[in-house]
Amino acid sequence: MKRFLAILILFACPGPSAGADGASDDAPRIRVAISRNVPSLKLRTASQIYAQEVKSGQKYMLLENASYEVKASGKWITVAGQELISPIKLLASDGQERIRLGGNLYKGDILLRATPEGGLDIIEYLSLEEYLYGVLPSEMSPDWPLEALKAQAVASRTYAMKFINPARDYDITNGVEMQVYNGTNKINSRIMEAVNSTRGEVLKYKGKLITAFFHACCGGHTASVKSAWGEDVIKPLYGVPDPFCTTSRHYRWEFFLSSADLLKAIQAQGSTALRIKSMKIHQKDRSGRAVSFRFTTDKDSMVIKTTDLRKRFGTFEFRSTFITRISPVKGGYELAGRGWGHGVGMCQEGAKFMAYKGRTYKKILRHYYPSAAIIDYE
Ligand SMILES: [Zn+2]
Repeated sequence: MKRFLAILILFACPGPSAGADGASDDAPRIRVAISRNVPSLKLRTASQIYAQEVKSGQKYMLLENASYEVKASGKWITVAGQELISPIKLLASDGQERIRLGGNLYKGDILLRATPEGGLDIIEYLSLEEYLYGVLPSEMSPDWPLEALKAQAVASRTYAMKFINPARDYDITNGVEMQVYNGTNKINSRIMEAVNSTRGEVLKYKGKLITAFFHACCGGHTASVKSAWGEDVIKPLYGVPDPFCTTSRHYRWEFFLSSADLLKAIQAQGSTALRIKSMKIHQKDRSGRAVSFRFTTDKDSMVIKTTDLRKRFGTFEFRSTFITRISPVKGGYELAGRGWGHGVGMCQEGAKFMAYKGRTYKKILRHYYPSAAIIDYE
């Protein structure tokens, strides 16, 4: 019976007005790219929603608790056999969770757009504060102390606002390359309190939003944005000593690199070497991180950026550029290092410890982003 209803789904109907787009507050709106250029998607509705052609304004009703296969072809988007002109918007008329994509529930409005490559872009429109409810449990554990969650809320709000740009098709992506967002999963009362009690607060330096980077664990000193990515450094992102994350399980790590894999890595950068004679840190930054390594080989000597090696060998295993020891061992090199992540901005493990020690979120933010003002985004 359910199957039969799902086939009936689409029929023209008045639906809500174009202005009723689920906005539940007056916070800035943000557009999050949930997926880019996917061949098709399985859409499951958590309640009755509307699919609206943006150009014609024509609306169609989708039934509650039904599954739909959505595909793009040229300028058309097909929903359960019905062709609609791209782009279409899935409208949520109130603040309830509305649409299930993959395993995640989304409560904002979803825009589906056919791409020139024949795929679908999926973009969620929602208020910045609602978006933060979804970011916090993905970027920091919901059971961490409240003051740490509040510090994360301010950092994430600032980071997201910095990317709001109407000239682009969307503002921010939902993965680790920016900040992780998986819809409304895992939201609890502490997450809501952390967002609500810091509502509208952002970090600014000399009147401008900072790019409020954060990472899992700094290993004792945060990195400068300049040494991490070559960006112009401002005082809040210059790097600070951090005595607060020493008890973290991410504080120290070890990683084995085989000579064979290293040889492939340096050959990929143009070396004709057949054997590595030594691996040493070539240059360090002010925080003690290795900017580059020097490899001496049977043919030449080669300098390779640590960030390139991390990317190649995986940022999960090669946890940071904060290398404290390189030991030649049988078949390769053992690296010992500290911290996890790029090291710029707030150290989340340190923030957790500061919160356990009774520090407020403002104290935490002032420690990791020195000289940044915590003010309202208006
Ligand atoms: Zn730290």
